[in-house]
Amino acid sequence: MPNGDVTKGELLYEGKAKKIYVTSDPALLWAEFKDDATAFDGDKKGTIVNKGVYNVALSEAMFKLLDEKGVPTHYVDTLSDRELLVRRLDIHPVEIVVRNVSAGSVCKRYGIDKGITFDEPIIEYFLKNDELHDPMLNRQHVTVLGYAPADALEVMEKYALAVNEILSEYMLARGVRLVDFKLEFGSADGKVYLGDEITPDTCRLWDAETGEVFDKDRFRHDMGEVEDHYAAVVKLLTEG
Ligand code: UDP
Repeated sequence: MPNGDVTKGELLYEGKAKKIYVTSDPALLWAEFKDDATAFDGDKKGTIVNKGVYNVALSEAMFKLLDEKGVPTHYVDTLSDRELLVRRLDIHPVEIVVRNVSAGSVCKRYGIDKGITFDEPIIEYFLKNDELHDPMLNRQHVTVLGYAPADALEVMEKYALAVNEILSEYMLARGVRLVDFKLEFGSADGKVYLGDEITPDTCRLWDAETGEVFDKDRFRHDMGEVEDHYAAVVKLLTEG
């Protein structure tokens, strides 16, 4: 898509990790990645220095890989080390979580140990709604309550599993285990696209050999050296 002439317009929306601006092209948005970090439903707030830069670098690389492998994403171009140009989507307000290994809320909810490798990936759905604290949904909640049409949900599930296969293989080849991750999808011109970001904020990433944690759990649980670990994992996953 030609975008040499696109200019930044009004702020459309400011989220926890990104600012989104309209552009001179109604089909495109300008996403600026911030260093702000939140956890535990916004109760914990902080800054991860240069997180925006690491998150742009990893999102760009993962979106390009997925587009190449047949999963359409909203990525259009990289505008600076903190800014992406993306396709404007009607976001389906459903967060899709894919889990390969037990960690985080699945351990708490079902009382299981951390680090159990599942026989097959588990897909979970959550309503994107801060006020309601992102309640878990089943497939009927998604379609019957109107959060996404059945045909779009089917495509989202198919893409979520494809993303899992593509990224798990890519990351493992670079020594990183993709434990779990969260995706958001939207539609444009009747087609489903992967939106949002793919970053250490939205994925759990462990060293495949040692189990060392390279993701936002370092911030959530005050494990220290957060910036260094973001930098290291992004370097591993974007170089070579
Ligand atoms: N996740 C996310 N945004 C959310 C909730 C979860 O990006 O609002 C990601 C999280 O980083 C992890 C995966 O989705 O990689 C599964 O998260 P989980 O349900 O275990 O929730 P957590 O315990 O991390 O809050």
